[in-house]
Amino acid sequence: MMQVPLLVGSLLEHAEQFFSKKEVISQTHDKLHRFTYGEIGQRTRRLMSTLNELGIKNGDRIGTLAWNHHRHLEIYFAAPGMGAVLHTINIRLSPEDIIYIINHAEDKVLFIDEDILPLIEHIHTHLTTVEAFVVMTDKAELPDSTIQPLYSYEELLSIGDPNYEFAKDIDENQPAGMCYTSATTGKPKGVVYSHRAIVLHSYALGLVDTAAISESDVSMPVVPQFHVNAWGTPFACTWFGSTQVMPGPRFTPKRLAEFIERFKVTITAGVPTIWLGLLKELEQGNYDTSSLRAVLCGGSAAPLGLIKAFEEKHKIPFYHAYGATETTPLVTISRLKSYQQNLSKEEKFAERARQGILVPGLQMKVVGNNGEIEWNGKEMGELLLKGPWIADEYYNDARSDDAFIEGWFHTGDVVTVDEEGTIKIVDRTKDLIKSGGEWISSVEIENAIMAHDAVFEASVVAIPDEKWQERPVACVVLHEGLEEKVTKENILAFLTPHFPKWWLPDDVLFFEEIPKSSVGKFLKRELREQVKARYSPQG
Ligand code: AMP
Repeated sequence: MMQVPLLVGSLLEHAEQFFSKKEVISQTHDKLHRFTYGEIGQRTRRLMSTLNELGIKNGDRIGTLAWNHHRHLEIYFAAPGMGAVLHTINIRLSPEDIIYIINHAEDKVLFIDEDILPLIEHIHTHLTTVEAFVVMTDKAELPDSTIQPLYSYEELLSIGDPNYEFAKDIDENQPAGMCYTSATTGKPKGVVYSHRAIVLHSYALGLVDTAAISESDVSMPVVPQFHVNAWGTPFACTWFGSTQVMPGPRFTPKRLAEFIERFKVTITAGVPTIWLGLLKELEQGNYDTSSLRAVLCGGSAAPLGLIKAFEEKHKIPFYHAYGATETTPLVTISRLKSYQQNLSKEEKFAERARQGILVPGLQMKVVGNNGEIEWNGKEMGELLLKGPWIADEYYNDARSDDAFIEGWFHTGDVVTVDEEGTIKIVDRTKDLIKSGGEWISSVEIENAIMAHDAVFEASVVAIPDEKWQERPVACVVLHEGLEEKVTKENILAFLTPHFPKWWLPDDVLFFEEIPKSSVGKFLKRELREQVKARYSPQG
């Protein structure tokens, strides 16, 4: 067979050729835009030509700090389309982490949404590699700014060449994108996606038994474009010619509900916190959501009650999926097999609340204390993954050796597997808390608390939260004699300057002792039980 490289640029070229009339509907700060794939193609080509003029070369990293909109989509194709690397940056991280990420990736150009500009103004003197900043705005005038050189996205496009060619001399194993994920300790870790991985992952999103994305879909990615490429949906949707609805900056549940009704959205994707918010909105307003054929939910465990509310009350099919930054991200999706349709209603819901079975193309192995576990739904072990869209290292990072071992990615997720091969995540080995789809490192908060003079030791654990899935609670042991003098407020005030607000623990509980293992490690599982008992002393 022919050796034809699988390239990201070819996905948009396909849409230009065959779906040039289909649309991308995009909300920006100022207005709603509608562009056909024909127009998106030309705009992307213009962007590639001006990036070329700006000196961007094969392999250079292009950073984005942006919400979900058409300009962000254009960079999704322009960067890899010219052999450069799309680096999406999580705007919710602390300024220190954002500085680290941009310098570590050695971004040459940064594309910034106008409301994120103040953050970059605050940090830009620490950025060591960025040569140009581009603000994505609808306004004719550039905002007043201390950042130099600052360009207007639309102005760059206006001088670009609409016929500029997608690069063809690219190796499919070359980097196309990158994304950083939080670590238990230390700075975030970078994952690099190859062209090949993104294209194969896009195929996987099109399979009928996964997300079944197709031309007839109207897709609204709510998961941010800076979270594993909005789970890869913009790549697949463009390739397959789906209509895309980008909900833009600082969207609300109301906007999501209105867009679903107005644009007849068929498929949408996001974390449970988003769907809890939408559910509330659907209960308050009167929206027609009958167009929806699939809500994809991942990033954190989807609560059973959420699945039931969507399906039973609102007749909206709800699919639980699992993945990670290191996995591009789709790994499993929960769908019933044909013969499982015979199960009772409750059994079906219980099955679908699990994370599901492996998508074709990947391999898994679950390893417990005594080697590979039995698939009996009881034994637990860590999930290991292998496959063409699973990373095999962190970018320039010695921590790779801890997670990528003998050809397997160690996910840090502890699972059971039943006879059907359905996985259920029961715990995680990484000491991280996931709040509203974003990571909080318990270790970082512990270390910060332990820097307090009055603190003997501290441990931070996750407690279940209805809205955010998990929230941090700090468990603190004070030095003898200080018990009366230090309060929850003192500890929180001490932490405040060091973390984003949403990282601060919801509560500080004082203990006489933190439970420890024989080797002196905090026994977090036991501590979580103790915290639970404090909140409900009756059990
Ligand atoms: P991230 O790299 O931020 O996408 O986070 C990936 C991690 O989120 C996984 O390793 C899991 O710990 C967690 N995660 C993702 N999807 C699910 C899910 N459906 N259920 C439970 N945890 C999940």
